[in-house]
Amino acid sequence: MRYISTRSNGGEWFSASDAILKGLAPDGGLFIPEGIPQLPESFTLTKGAWYAMYQAIKPYFEGDELENDLEKICHSAFSFPVPFHTAGGKDTLELYFGPTAAFKDFGARFLAFSMERLLEKRNENLTILVATSGDTGGAVASAFHNRKHLSVKVLFPEGRVAQRQRMQLTGWDGNVSSYEVEGSFDDCQRMVKEAFMDSSLSGLSSANSINLGRLLPQMAYYVYASSVYKLRYGEEAVFVIPSGNVGNSTGAYWAKAMGAPIKRIVLATNANRTIPDYIETGNYEPRPSVKTLANAMDVGAPSNMERLFAAFPDIESFRANVEAYSVSDDEIMATIREVHDESGYVICPHTACGERVRRDHVSEEHSVVVSTAHPAKFNDIVEPLVGHEIAIPENLYEIMHKTPQSKRIAADYHNLFQ
Ligand SMILES: *Cc1c(COP(=O)(O)O)cnc(C)c1O
Repeated sequence: MRYISTRSNGGEWFSASDAILKGLAPDGGLFIPEGIPQLPESFTLTKGAWYAMYQAIKPYFEGDELENDLEKICHSAFSFPVPFHTAGGKDTLELYFGPTAAFKDFGARFLAFSMERLLEKRNENLTILVATSGDTGGAVASAFHNRKHLSVKVLFPEGRVAQRQRMQLTGWDGNVSSYEVEGSFDDCQRMVKEAFMDSSLSGLSSANSINLGRLLPQMAYYVYASSVYKLRYGEEAVFVIPSGNVGNSTGAYWAKAMGAPIKRIVLATNANRTIPDYIETGNYEPRPSVKTLANAMDVGAPSNMERLFAAFPDIESFRANVEAYSVSDDEIMATIREVHDESGYVICPHTACGERVRRDHVSEEHSVVVSTAHPAKFNDIVEPLVGHEIAIPENLYEIMHKTPQSKRIAADYHNLFQ
């Protein structure tokens, strides 16, 4: 299996392992497989979620140096359940049973275990730099904690992350260090960029959501979940996906292209309307983000769009395959309340975008809303709406009770290397 850049016209190929270690293609594009493989005939659900995901990922590593390590990597990375919740006859796919209670755990963990194995083989070391305003940093820190040959530096802006998010960024020791930067999130991002450009520093890498190693697990859980759904109901489901940088939904498109039983894919965005507007007008106009209650989706220039454009290059094919609807903050709040009143089920603000879109735009009987995070992570928004406390789930509990440690630094990247 060979990989190309979304910006190349062919000619330069990369292995899956190279794509994972590089993150971004040399020409600045994103790595995509030369052709999407088909799901193996032998695909089976009988050996559990992690094994189904392994089978879905395997063809992407055909001939790769990690091919024979893949089963073990998947077993280690996908060590938590991927259940459906059924309420009022409708299903929600809960992707939040990983250590930081959001779907990003799948990708971050697969990336960490893959990188560890590759570096072990090559006897090299890497330092991962992550600038975060919340969720991503926690998932990456947790996934890379105690992975050999790897260390992580997490940068976050002082006073601007929620208390529970802060715990997830600072509760680490050993190979993970966190830095509370005297500045904004933009300062954190700038420091990371400057560090990458400093030629006296080597062995730096990133763990962005555009990394192939984060995308493949997101493809794999759609293969698994859609197959479970089809087996259970005998029908293909419409998948509704809360989206920001569209990494999660790109995984769903790849799964569908492989032959996974997905009827269609509908994106739910918050008030950041770049994609719904593109579908409506035919003009793609990335823009600054606006702040919403579903803050992990506050994206005005979705970083994985190049992959969707590679799959659906013109507006006609894009419209034929991608549906997207925007949900306002008022609708998010009303939907969290509505769902709780109906069945007692509590959903996070991101998942609420998906549920609103299902209720307003999906007429099919068979549909699945993808739940991207546990509502306890957004307790300050959700608890007043449902009128009671939300218990911290067991998986998140562990991180919440570590001893926070971080270094406070001025917004200059040299401070990261002292
Ligand atoms: C990252 C994130 C999203 C958005 O996913 P994308 O892959 O960026 O589209 C949605 N919900 C939650 C909780 C997230 O952390």
